[in-house]
Amino acid sequence: MIYTITLNPAIDRLIKVKGTLTKKRTNRAHQVEYDLGGKGLHVSNVLTKFNMENKALGYIGETNRPLMESILAKKNICHHLLVEDGASTRECIVVMDDTNAGSLMITENGFHVSKENHSKLIDFLHQFLTEKDIVVIAGSMPPNYTIAQLLEIINTIKNKKCFIACDLSGEALAAVVDMGINFIKPNQYEVEVLFQNNQTTLIQKIKELAIKIDYVVVSLGKDGSYVAHKDNLYQVTSPTVKERNDTGAGDVFVGSFIAQFVQGKDLKTIMKYATGCSASKVTKHNSTDFDIKEAESYFNRISIKKLGSDEDVVS
Ligand code: ATP
Ligand code: MG
Ligand code: MG
Repeated sequence: MIYTITLNPAIDRLIKVKGTLTKKRTNRAHQVEYDLGGKGLHVSNVLTKFNMENKALGYIGETNRPLMESILAKKNICHHLLVEDGASTRECIVVMDDTNAGSLMITENGFHVSKENHSKLIDFLHQFLTEKDIVVIAGSMPPNYTIAQLLEIINTIKNKKCFIACDLSGEALAAVVDMGINFIKPNQYEVEVLFQNNQTTLIQKIKELAIKIDYVVVSLGKDGSYVAHKDNLYQVTSPTVKERNDTGAGDVFVGSFIAQFVQGKDLKTIMKYATGCSASKVTKHNSTDFDIKEAESYFNRISIKKLGSDEDVVS
């Protein structure tokens, strides 16, 4: 079983305004849509689209629970989310206009998670995880969550010997890297923050991370990614596509990577799906849609080069 953990879930509220979004003017919404938010839940959505059995764990606010549940149901996401009484799942407001200048995003902080619910999550992991499971932890932490609580989750999963993948940033990323997990996918900015003012090159930083982490992926937006595994480092280029909204590209990358990995596919295939699906995602206007067939049609435009050799793994 693949489990995803979203500690700070969200509902995306997509608002479209006509013309150009302008300050000091009434920008009338002509379309409002709700979509799934929260990185772990996004990964669950990708796994579900690949028909991979998975369960979303984490928390959900009680106040707007029906809305969140309806979004989850529409996407067929199997979940066991612990309900936080009197709390509301945060909204991420995404405002788009008719220009192609990108979207404006405003995110709320999220609700406080009670000690009881944290303990319930730990108990669930104790009770149900087995060695064959994969656990993906992704996204920000609730405002009152401590690094010690995150590490308690990681420790519990480690004791069960599961494969642990994390898409975290800042202090949380630093903490899990220190503990040693199996997979990380920071983008280049998250890597720079991790190494603070260290003047070494990005490649040197990736090699350093790869000492402790089995799969280190550093995503570079439209420029593709670096993937380090065992003693090998690959440079993967993305196909050029018409970008409409790149939010969530990283989540689709992680979900597609895990979906292929769990099927025992070779690294080349894993990288092609992750790169193709995330490129398909950026052509869509919301933060979750992507098309697997479209991704496959990009495969011959993705190059994978093993660094340190002149040979293209895939031409
Ligand atoms: P997220 O918003 O989900 O956190 P991220 O910043 O973590 O995203 P990115 O580096 O922006 O992740 O993108 C992840 C992957 O998506 C890239 O490695 C690349 O393969 C693909 N991708 C992103 N932007 C584009 C683009 N404009 N064109 C093609 N592929 C893209
Ligand atoms: Mg990005
Ligand atoms: Mg990301």
